Amino acid sequence: MVKRMQRLCVGWLLLLCAGIANAAWYERTEAVMGTRIYVQLWQDDADRATQLMQQVIDEMHRIDRLMSPYKPDAQLAIVNRDAAQHPVAVTPELFDLIVLSNHYADLSDGAFDITFASLGHAYNYREQVRPDAKQQRKAAALINYKALQLDSHKHTVAFPRQGMKIDLGGIAKGYAVDNAITLLKKAGVAHAIVTAGGDSRLLGDHRGRPWLMGIKHPRGEQHVVSLPLSDVAISTSGDYERYFEADGVRYHHIIDPKKGDSAREVVSATIIADTATESDALSTTIFILGVEKGLKLVNGMTGVSAILIDRTGKIHYSADLAPPVPLDE
Ligand code: ADP
Ligand code: MG
Repeated sequence: MVKRMQRLCVGWLLLLCAGIANAAWYERTEAVMGTRIYVQLWQDDADRATQLMQQVIDEMHRIDRLMSPYKPDAQLAIVNRDAAQHPVAVTPELFDLIVLSNHYADLSDGAFDITFASLGHAYNYREQVRPDAKQQRKAAALINYKALQLDSHKHTVAFPRQGMKIDLGGIAKGYAVDNAITLLKKAGVAHAIVTAGGDSRLLGDHRGRPWLMGIKHPRGEQHVVSLPLSDVAISTSGDYERYFEADGVRYHHIIDPKKGDSAREVVSATIIADTATESDALSTTIFILGVEKGLKLVNGMTGVSAILIDRTGKIHYSADLAPPVPLDE
């Protein structure tokens, strides 16, 4: 009996050692949703790690197929094509994300507004295409999330005017990152990072130490701030992601609905929050609101922190983040 117990114990020990011996960080980088997707996770089985990383990439593709404004079969693209003619039914998932976007619009007095696309889609940053002054004024007049006709029973979306468009580019990547983290968590993963462009969420820590997350210099490659973080989401919106310059003016992908033009008060806006959906939406929002209004909004919220870099390069922190103290003082 004792012998059997001993054999059993040794067997378990060997199994345990084999497991620990294979435990490692696994990572994958992929281009989906027009951006760079990065997954890193701690696993003790290589096949399982490969499988889980594939599930993350599959989820990114699923969101893209549903919410891309550029894929003609995506429900969001169909809304943009038909919603001025008749109400378009969408999945509850897409409907709910539209409703949640409007919550951030309410919160920011319309700075975050998914109908920015009525104007935003007139630009092509890669091809350096922009609307002329008349087209710009006309399109900007169509930006108004309150005019969206949303039927919460039928899950339909309708536009009151021709030319109106929506785009979830300011929130969908964060949402996809949250879904990916949820699936990893359910699978028993304890340490992971999922990144989609400027949106990341951290699951657990980096095995005993926090993850070190950097905020890029808006005009260079080096990092200007490094943040040790665990179990949170972090998003940065910058004017250096998609832009072109013409006549000394930088035209970039974050539109201030009130000005009907790119937002230019800050050059980088970072949000730390519990979920990537929230950090994504709020980083776009405070980029538009700028230092004073942006920090006022964040300081009134619990569990949300902000770091802004203004046009002169000055860094501004939300009230909960004490500015760094020099080590030799
Ligand atoms: P990215 O990671 O693509 O840089 P950001 O979180 O910085 O995304 O947000 C920029 C995206 O948000 C734009 O590409 C556009 O799709 C969308 N966007 C631009 N202006 C607004 C706005 N006023 N309200 C909501 N979304 C916006
Ligand atoms: Mg964002």
